[in-house]
This record gives sequence, C-alpha cells and structure tokens, in this order.
Amino acid sequence: MATFVTRAQWGARARRSSNTNITPANGGVTVHHVGGSRVARGSHADCAAQVRGIQNYHMDSNGWTDVAYSHLTCVHGYVFEGRGERQRTAANGTDAGNQNWYAVCALTGGSSSNYDAITAQLVDAFHLAIARLRSSGGAAAAINGHRNHRATECPGNLYPLVQDGRLNPGGSRTHTVRAGETLYSIGQLYGVPWMSIAAANNIPEPYTIRIGQVLIIPAA
Ligand SMILES: [Zn+2]
Ligand SMILES: [Zn+2]
Repeated sequence: MATFVTRAQWGARARRSSNTNITPANGGVTVHHVGGSRVARGSHADCAAQVRGIQNYHMDSNGWTDVAYSHLTCVHGYVFEGRGERQRTAANGTDAGNQNWYAVCALTGGSSSNYDAITAQLVDAFHLAIARLRSSGGAAAAINGHRNHRATECPGNLYPLVQDGRLNPGGSRTHTVRAGETLYSIGQLYGVPWMSIAAANNIPEPYTIRIGQVLIIPAA
C-alpha cells in the first residue's frame, strides 16, 4: 500500500498562481519519468529533497508557477503531492494535453538497458496517484504516456506498463500479445502461472494465442 506525502510534508514552496481551467473527464492521466540517467534514490530519506529540486528547477529555471506535475511517485511506494487535483499541469507538452490530462511523474530514469528498477512499490504509488486523480480530480479512465502527446522517449521503460494496464488502479491487468510470446513467457513476465492465464481467458488446449490478442492477467 502506497503512502501519500502532502506538499507541507515534503516542504513545497507555495505556487505562484492557480489555474483550474481543465477538463480531465475528456482525457485521463499521462505518465512521465524524470528521464536522462538513472535518478532513483537508494534511500527514501533522499526523495523529498529530489522533489524540492524538481520544483525549484521548474519555478526558477523554467519560470513556471509550480512543479509541473500533478503528483510524483518514487520506487519506495510514496506519492508526492504535486499541483494536485483540479489544477492544470504544465507537463504534457501540448495545450490539449495540459487541458485534458493530469500528469504523474516517476522519480526514475536511465537508458532502456540500464534503467532504474521498476518496483512493485512504484506501481502501487501509481495506483494511488491515479485513483486520487479519478476520485477527487474527475479524471477519465484512460492512461497514456508523454510520448502520446508529443515526440519524446518519456516515460522510458515505464511505457510498457502504460500499454498493458499494470498502472491502472482498477486492478484489471491486461497484456497485449507480442510476436514470439507464449502463455508461459507471459506468465513469467507477471509472476502468474500460465495455466491461470489460460483459465482466466477461456483458452482451450492447445493454448494457442495470437499477436495483438488482449489477455486478462489474473492476480498471482
Ligand atoms: Zn514526460
Ligand atoms: Zn522514495
């Protein structure tokens, strides 16, 4: 279970102004990462300072009114309150993106082959952040990535989790079958017995699946 960290708790500066001109019922939640090199802190005690640094950069170097994101998530299972619900973000790269979508940023980064560990606690933190943005912020159910708004590699290695539904707090994980995959390899991917996936999707012997098929992934 993830833990919410309020702005007061992480030592946020006051926002310079408020902008509630948004329509998140027409979009949903966009996933980001810090990017660049690996940035996840080894100790959670260092995460609040990292968030303060991001806010300072956005306010002092970019000249924005506040940290750009609605919330930020760390690999230790914490959600840092960003602009929060009902506030327009500055993170999604387009006017429509900022109008219709909230923004949640993971404190992760790195190259595809040398990326911060995507922990179960980080996934839990996304579930909490997205659930809040839906229940208190009126976000629609869709989840996408920064790259769906404009050309960017963001959110890096988190993008497969955006695509297969693992970040969805509804808990109904799905997986879209790719070339070369089998029920066995997909089971390995999620830590779920492949027979459970076959049963959940009513797949009979000889357990044939096809590329593009969307599978429900049951709880392990
Ligand atoms: Zn981004
Ligand atoms: Zn942390």
